[in-house]
Amino acid sequence: MFNNLSDKLDKALHVLKGHGKITEVNVAETLKEVRRALLDADVNFKIAKNFTKTVKEKALGQDVLTSLNPSQLMVKLVKDELTELMGGETVGINLSGNPTVILMSGLQGSGKTTFSGKLANYLKTKKTKQVLLVGCDVYRPAAINQLQVVGEQIGVEVYAEVGNQNPVEISQNALKHAKSTGKNVVIIDTAGRLAVDEEMMTEISNIHKAVNPQETLFVVDSMTGQDAVNTAKAFNDILNFEGVVLTKLDGDTRGGAALSIKSVVDKPIKFIGTGEKMEAIDVFHPDRMADRILG
Ligand code: GDP
Repeated sequence: MFNNLSDKLDKALHVLKGHGKITEVNVAETLKEVRRALLDADVNFKIAKNFTKTVKEKALGQDVLTSLNPSQLMVKLVKDELTELMGGETVGINLSGNPTVILMSGLQGSGKTTFSGKLANYLKTKKTKQVLLVGCDVYRPAAINQLQVVGEQIGVEVYAEVGNQNPVEISQNALKHAKSTGKNVVIIDTAGRLAVDEEMMTEISNIHKAVNPQETLFVVDSMTGQDAVNTAKAFNDILNFEGVVLTKLDGDTRGGAALSIKSVVDKPIKFIGTGEKMEAIDVFHPDRMADRILG
């Protein structure tokens, strides 16, 4: 992931290596290349501009010009700023409900159903929770089937109501079912569409009101770059979600979504999806991701 961005940042910072001393011009030139690398990765223009401005201020403030190892200091400043850009701290999910309700939102194909399964499996194995998966995509029978296959695979019960076209009712019934069967986490998979539309937003907003989730997670395909950020904004305006899940980071993702989303919606990235298998889920750590980007 982020291979192109990594290479370009490495090249930009490499120029400083071997310089015992560097000048303000060297710093400016390096940061120009850093900015170019961010823009190539599909990071929003304003975000990229602010990024280099902040690094420059810090570099000059920390006497990078007279430091013994200016290139190492610059790498550290860029790494710190990348960490900040991706949220700074690791933010876990809130499992305090009884049962905890987790609502998945996002466009069709973003990876909601797959991630619902991954999260159920993660909570079951890592946190020893009793999980119920709920299929609320009433438009595509295939989506319910897919969830059932996933549930079977990981040994988690799936609640669905064939023939019921009312996702609000299904989710409410699922909560009752969860309580009566001793489940302590309910993960609700919802219907997405190919683009943001009013009907989808109204529907998910109604489910949200009805089940009052501890965690609403916005699932987004990281390959979609800037579009991912616009979609995140639309969903956040309606749902005020708790966190973001970036999927498909195993592909050749440029990085724009990961680097821009926090600045735009001010919500943390909580998990990443790194493959189609049920085990391909990781808690998102901004510092580790920055380390990975800078090699
Ligand atoms: P939904 O429509 O939002 O429920 O999306 P799905 O869960 O059906 O996922 C759409 C496609 O993306 C499926 O083919 C998944 O196998 C695939 N997918 C989901 N998450 C990942 C991921 O992290 N990496 C990869 N490579 N594929 C993924």
